[in-house]
Amino acid sequence: MVQCRALRKSFGRIEVLRGIDLTIARGQVVCVVGPSGSGKSTLLRCLNHLEEPQSGRVYVDGELIGYEERGGTLRPLSDARLRRQRESIGMVFQRFHLFPHRTALENVMEGLVAVKGIGAADARRRAAELLDRVGLADRAQHYPAQLSGGQQQRVAIARSLAMEPKLMLFDEPTSALDPELVGEVLAVMKDLAATGMTMIVVTHEMGFAREVGDHLVFMDEGLIIEQGPPREVLGAPRHDRTRAFLSKVL
Ligand code: ATP
Ligand code: MG
Repeated sequence: MVQCRALRKSFGRIEVLRGIDLTIARGQVVCVVGPSGSGKSTLLRCLNHLEEPQSGRVYVDGELIGYEERGGTLRPLSDARLRRQRESIGMVFQRFHLFPHRTALENVMEGLVAVKGIGAADARRRAAELLDRVGLADRAQHYPAQLSGGQQQRVAIARSLAMEPKLMLFDEPTSALDPELVGEVLAVMKDLAATGMTMIVVTHEMGFAREVGDHLVFMDEGLIIEQGPPREVLGAPRHDRTRAFLSKVL
């Protein structure tokens, strides 16, 4: 479902991704861990072309992201085509980025109406179903300020799912939450994984990685240092740097 080949990204003179190769099968949940500044967020942002890589390629569901290939050369996609590609890749951030003056329901409806062009009545019905799926049927008419952080994040997940993405990217979705709210968001993500969604999750929640993750990737200084089944990497890390990192977070 996802192929990332020799991906490199620099900011100025600093190379933040130094050749990332990653293959993810459909329906897999891949957890990405690593120290601050190791390039985890940059990797996610390159996967959906929010950042333009220096070199390398990303394929999602067989489709080259961000470029079209003509006669062996790559050209940037038009804005419209890039937007279409991005619509098929959901992204959930540490901060929820909901529209503050719209209710939970309206936040989820927004993309259905504005992007998918679905009529208001259908969009409302679909949005209500999605809120129900994340356990927020009774909060549909609440504004973000009236919701807890965990509830807001679940609205953000429902809003992403409304676009029927092929792939979901999560960048530390529970890091901004009070500890008692982390579980409800992880539970929604676990349910989503059980539906067969392909997911890439940057997280410090090693319990989630072990229980829900199919694959664990450890990054440091712009490289994948080690990867494998979560239990193996967490239980018997092979690399010193992985061990040093895990001893701090486990
Ligand atoms: P964290 O765990 O703190 O979120 P991370 O692994 O997600 O870290 P990135 O956010 O990908 O790390 O950042 C990797 C490096 O790239 C850092 O040194 C960061 O300062 C740098 N960086 C990220 N975005 C930019 C940018 N837009 N301009 C310049 N440097 C950037
Ligand atoms: Mg980050």
